[in-house]
Amino acid sequence: MSVEETKDKLYDLLIIGGGITGAGIALDAVSRGLDTVLVEKNDFASGTSSKSTKLIHGGLRYLKQFEIALVREVGRERAIVHRLAPQLVKSEKMMLPIIKGGSFGKILTSVGLMVYDVLAGVEKADQRKMLDKEETLKKEPLLPEEIVEGGGLYAEYRTDDARLTIEVIKTSTQFGAKCINYMEVEDFIYENNSVIGTKCVDYITNEKSNIKARYIVNAAGPWVDELRQKNKSKQGKSLHLTKGVHIVVPHEKLPVSQAIYFDVPDGRMIFAIPRGRVTYIGTTDTDYHGDKNQVITENKDAEYLVDAVNNTFRTVNLKVEDVVSSWAGLRPLIYEEGKSASTLSRKDEIFESKTGLISIAGGKLTGYRKMAERVLDMVVKKYKNEYGKSFEDCSTDEISLAGGKFNGQNEVVDYTESIKKQLNKLDLDTYYAEYLVNNYGNQTNVILEKINDFDDEDPEIKLGRAELWYVVNSEMVFNSLDYFARRTGRLYFEIDTIEKLKEPILNDLKDYFNWDSAKYKYEMAALEEAIYLASEVFK
Ligand code: FAD
Repeated sequence: MSVEETKDKLYDLLIIGGGITGAGIALDAVSRGLDTVLVEKNDFASGTSSKSTKLIHGGLRYLKQFEIALVREVGRERAIVHRLAPQLVKSEKMMLPIIKGGSFGKILTSVGLMVYDVLAGVEKADQRKMLDKEETLKKEPLLPEEIVEGGGLYAEYRTDDARLTIEVIKTSTQFGAKCINYMEVEDFIYENNSVIGTKCVDYITNEKSNIKARYIVNAAGPWVDELRQKNKSKQGKSLHLTKGVHIVVPHEKLPVSQAIYFDVPDGRMIFAIPRGRVTYIGTTDTDYHGDKNQVITENKDAEYLVDAVNNTFRTVNLKVEDVVSSWAGLRPLIYEEGKSASTLSRKDEIFESKTGLISIAGGKLTGYRKMAERVLDMVVKKYKNEYGKSFEDCSTDEISLAGGKFNGQNEVVDYTESIKKQLNKLDLDTYYAEYLVNNYGNQTNVILEKINDFDDEDPEIKLGRAELWYVVNSEMVFNSLDYFARRTGRLYFEIDTIEKLKEPILNDLKDYFNWDSAKYKYEMAALEEAIYLASEVFK
C-alpha cells in the first residue's frame, strides 16, 4: 500500500492505531461496507497488543470489583472469538488454588466461579469444577501440601495477542481495508472546525502525505491522549497508564502442569502459564509516567514476580537469573479520582471532540469485537444523519479470521497431527507443529511448501527462513523485530532459537529489501538491543 494510493482519496473512515482496538474497528467498518484505512506508527501490535497476559478471558478478578456488565460481555465474547479463530484462541482450564489465608476461601471460590460461569454463559460441560485437597495436589503437585485446602478449575482461553491482531488486520485487508504500518499521524487537518484528515509521515519511504476521511477514530491505546492533545480536546476524562510486566522461565524451572492463577502476599493475584518449552508469569500493575515508546522490565518487577512464585511454589526456588525473556506493556486505563492501579476499571469509553475526532480508550483484548461494534454503530448513525447513506449491521461474529477456517477445536487437532507428519518428513521436531498451527493456523501449509526452496543443512534454519518469506509477503514485515517479536513470538517464547536464526534472517531481509551494509548493521544492533532488554537489563 503506497502513500500515492491514499493521497487523493476521501475515505469513509480513518483509524489511527494498529493494535487490537484499531484492527477490530477496521474489520467491523470494512465488512459493513465503509471505505476504510488504518495507519500504525510502528508495527501492527507493537504497543500494548503484544504485551498482554495473552488470555481471552472474562476477567474473574473484575467480579471482586462488581464489574458485572464487563464480566458478562467479555465472558461471552470468549466463545465467539474462539469460534472465529479456534487455532489461535484455545480453550484451557485455569486452576485457582485455595490456600490457607488466601484471597478466596472455599465457599467464595465456589460461588464466585459459579457466578462467573453464569455471567459468561459457559456451557454445562465446561463449567467450574471444585476440587478437594487431594484432587488439587494431584492436578498440580507443585503446590505446597501444607497450605493447600482445595482448588477450583474454570474455563479460560489462551491466545497470542500479536497474532490475533495480525489476523484481524489481514482479514480486514481481505475485505478491502487499507492497513499501513510504519506510518505516523503527526497532526490533524481541519475545515470549518471539523477534523477532515491527518498529516502523516511514512517511515518506510520517508514521505509525508495527507489522508482524508469523513470520520476519524483515534484508537492509539496509551497514546490516545497525545492525539487528543494535538486535537486540543484533552478535556474531562484522561488516561491513567499502568505498567504490566511478564517474565518467562524455562518450563523446568517452574514446571506447572497447567495454567494457574494464584495469590501474591500484597493481595493481588498473578498467572503462571505453561507454553511450549517455557512458563510465563505475570503480571505486575504499577502506575507509569515514563517513556511510552520504550517500556522495560526493571529489576523490581522481576523480583516481585519471582518472589510471588517462591511464596506459593515453595520448592522451586526461582531466581531472577533464571528469567530468559520478558515483556512490559502499558494498560491504557481511564483515570478515576482516588483509585489505585489495580482497582481501576478495565471498561472502554468513547469520547467525541468538538471537531469530530472519535477516541476510544480502556477495554481489553478480549472485548475488541464489541468495542469495534460500539464505535461503528456510532459512526454509521452519524453517516446516515449527515450524508443519508446506510450501512450493514455488524456481522463480525460470523467472520472467521485469516488462518482460522476450522470447524472447531477437533479439526485444529487433526490438522496439527497432519502437520506433525509433514515435519517428520522434513526432519523437524514435531514440537513445531503446535508452534506453527498456533501462529499461522491453516496458513502453515504455505510455509511448509516453501521450506525446500532453502538449501541450509539445518532444518530449523530452513523453517525460520520459510516463515520469514511468508510473513514478508503476507503480513507486512519490514524488519527482524516484526518477525522475532510480533509474527513468531520467538523473542519471548523461543529466545534461544534466535542465536542461530539471526544471521540467516537478517541476510534474507537484506535481500528482500535491498539493504546496504549500514542498514544491515543498524538492524542487527536493534535486534541485539531488543534481546538485551527482554532478557538481561533487569538482572
Ligand atoms: P495498542 O495495542 O497499544 O495499540 C495502539 C497503537 O496505536 C500502537 O500500536 C501505537 O503504535 C499506535 N499509535 C499511537 N500513536 C499513533 C500515531 N500518532 N499514529 C499512528 N499510530 C499510532 N486484555 C485481555 O483481554 N486479556 C489479557 O490477558 C490481558 N492482559 C493484559 C496484561 C497487561 C500487562 C496489559 C498491559 C494489558 C492486558 N490486557 C489484556 C489489555 C489489552 O492488552 C489491551 O486492552 C489492548 O491490547 C489495547 O489495545 P489497543 O489497540 O487499544 O492499544
